[in-house]
Amino acid sequence: MKIQDFPDEIKNYLIPEHKGKLIYRCLKCSGEYSIENLLYTCPDCGQVLLIYDENFDLLKDIDGKTWHKIFDYRKMLKIPALKGIYLFHEFIGPVIPLDDIVYLGEGHTPVVEANKIMQEKAGIRFFFKNDGQNPSASFKDRGMASALSYINFLVKSSKISDVLAVCASTGDTSAAAALYASYLKPHIKSAVLLPHKKVTPQQLSQPLGSGASVFEIPGVFDDCMKVVENLAENYNVALLNSKNAWRILGQESYSYEIAQEFEYNMSDKVVVVPIGNAGNITAVMNGFIKFYNTGIIDTLPTIIGVQSEHANPVYKYYLEPDPEKRKFIPVTVRPSVAQAAMIGNPVSMPRVIMLVNHYNQTAGKQKVFFMEVSEQDIMDWELAANHNGHIACTHGGESLAGLVAARKMGIVQENETAIVDSTAHALKFAGFQEMYFENSFPREFGISPDPGLINKPVLMRPADLKKVPAPGKPLEDSDFQIFIQKVSEDIARKLNLKALK
Ligand SMILES: *Cc1c(COP(=O)(O)O)cnc(C)c1O
Ligand SMILES: [Zn+2]
Repeated sequence: MKIQDFPDEIKNYLIPEHKGKLIYRCLKCSGEYSIENLLYTCPDCGQVLLIYDENFDLLKDIDGKTWHKIFDYRKMLKIPALKGIYLFHEFIGPVIPLDDIVYLGEGHTPVVEANKIMQEKAGIRFFFKNDGQNPSASFKDRGMASALSYINFLVKSSKISDVLAVCASTGDTSAAAALYASYLKPHIKSAVLLPHKKVTPQQLSQPLGSGASVFEIPGVFDDCMKVVENLAENYNVALLNSKNAWRILGQESYSYEIAQEFEYNMSDKVVVVPIGNAGNITAVMNGFIKFYNTGIIDTLPTIIGVQSEHANPVYKYYLEPDPEKRKFIPVTVRPSVAQAAMIGNPVSMPRVIMLVNHYNQTAGKQKVFFMEVSEQDIMDWELAANHNGHIACTHGGESLAGLVAARKMGIVQENETAIVDSTAHALKFAGFQEMYFENSFPREFGISPDPGLINKPVLMRPADLKKVPAPGKPLEDSDFQIFIQKVSEDIARKLNLKALK
């Protein structure tokens, strides 16, 4: 639809014009810094930063109902810059001109209701939001679209040139970073650091396919992260981990989309996300707070952050009920099928601590909860979901397992509706499904397959058949007929098919 065809009261708002004034703010000393430079931690005290809009209050001049119309009508436009996460431009990156925005198809991922069988099994109505249907098959594309759009803007306005973007990754960050950087050739190149043998073959293939420099490092993610931090401190590189606050800004789109999907009614809603480096839950909380503060939603949804028993530092921190006594202690991670969340010392922990407090205070009661789940439950719930029409990854299974546990504990009520984050596509983690089906998990995972969920291909090679076809060697007439006949009969027997009369 063309601008002139929209209702008069909305026309002037369709192309975003909010004059945002973004600054980095330190979470510890409240120091504020210009966004002219790429900054990751406070130059004064070393703490992580978040980006704030000093003109945020101007957004309140537009009432909530009008915002609903702006976002809903804007969806009908065919302007590439506004088709992805920047549909919410005023809230995500108002300083970035539309011309500099990189859109590769991210955002607006499907929200799919679970069937009756799954809802009964889980004890609650729920939907998966399939963030695996982003271009590099995980939610990380939201943050990369934001970080790379901003870097692109800096390059275009000659504030920086020839950027080498680096990140450490449990797999998906590097896939997303390499994809977006490759689109911005030749000004931007990327290098990614992965823990050796701790990313899946599919994830490894992604940055390689995008042409990034790929380095495999001994150890786990936390070790890679330290190397990247050292590179960022000592060399001229742009850091693309979620330490980079632009990533957080882009990932807030996940909350905005949920609000829009449920017609801005967040009462009795529960949003469930897995936690690794804790960038995602940071963004999700911040997004809902911003929509609440501008009257776009009038209730803050419950948020449940889920961790595996094998990588649970955030969960452990919140086990202590008395905020005064809480003390953050990094954990040594053990192997986890929720491999992209296998992080013992989350970079965004200070952001989480600040925002959980702020979120609960704004809501007037506790609305953020943390759950811990077993490796067994993660796999069982992932596979059960995928047996019922979903495409959840292990982290989607982790989220669902966390929801079920929260429901059992009474944190979530029967009349509520949950939106469960499947953060990546099932295919990225197909190897764990295979280990489950083959019962070949190494001992330390502690997973024994439920026979009812195991599925294996059956080779149809009837023993009494002399000749079978092979590539380049088709069978001749009668041999071919016998082959077709025999194999069909065997399949019919295995499936108990009734013959047609
Ligand atoms: C990165 C990632 C996570 C963890 O998100 P954080 O922002 O690091 O907490 C979970 N699932 C998948 C698939 C991921 O790629
Ligand atoms: Zn500081």
